[in-house]
Formats: sequence, structure tokens, C-alpha cells
Amino acid sequence: MSRSNELYQQVILDHNKNPRNYRALEGSDVLVCEGHNPLCGDHITVYLDLDANGTVNDLGFQGNGCAISKASASMMTAYLKGKSLAEVKTIFSEFHDMVRGEFDPASRENHLGKLTLFQGVKEYSSRIKCASLAWHALMGALDKQQSATTEE
Ligand code: ZN
Repeated sequence: MSRSNELYQQVILDHNKNPRNYRALEGSDVLVCEGHNPLCGDHITVYLDLDANGTVNDLGFQGNGCAISKASASMMTAYLKGKSLAEVKTIFSEFHDMVRGEFDPASRENHLGKLTLFQGVKEYSSRIKCASLAWHALMGALDKQQSATTEE
């Protein structure tokens, strides 16, 4: 196993065991969207609190799913705090393209930081939707939808 694969495995296991921001957010302004990945059976609900300028004030998630879907949600919530809406949308599109193998962060300028760990899932087509589920739920929350699915 290569070193990047080993690191990937360790980070997934760590976030699956100790998910960051695993909580519902309270408040009338909190945007909530339940994401569903029927291929794997993952359910991830994302909670998003934006401040008046549209900056991500807080993010949380809850749900049941495989290790990759939970680790991806955990890393997403940790990574996006304090980001502007424009940054969130850019990061979403880079992430989405990267896991599908259409964006190579090693050869292009990007805003993915630690999230580049997930580039390995492009080799496992059944896992791509697990890794992107929380992101679809986040985009659904921004669009004020109550539910989102990885199946378009
Ligand atoms: Zn899954």
C-alpha cells in the first residue's frame, strides 16, 4: 500500500471514530438538509448556520452511513467553517470534480487543502457518491431544500 493510501485509511478511520461537528444546530436561521445516497444506504443530515454576510458561522452533521460518508462529512464541516459562500461553492465544485477523476489537484491550483485526501476514491466508483453525499446535502441546504440525493 502506498503512503498516501495509508494516510487516507488512517484519516478515514479517525474521522469515522471521532467525527467532528457531529451535532444538530439549533436556531430559526439554521439551514437543514437531509442527504441520501441510495446506492450505499448512507443518510447524512447537514446543518448550516450562515452569518449576515453569508460566511459559514457553524456547520454540523448527523446521520448513519459508511465510514467514507461520515469521514467526508466530518472533514467538510471542519474545513468550511469561516469560509465565504463563494469559497464554499468553489470548493464544492473542485471536490466534486476531483472525486470523479475530472480534477487533478496535484497539477492545478486549488482550494482543497486536506480534502485532497479524498482523491483516492476516484478509483472506487461505488464510493464516489459516499464521499460527495455530505456536499450534496450542503448544496441542498444552501438552496433551501429539505432533502438531497446523490442521484440527480
Ligand atoms: Zn457509503
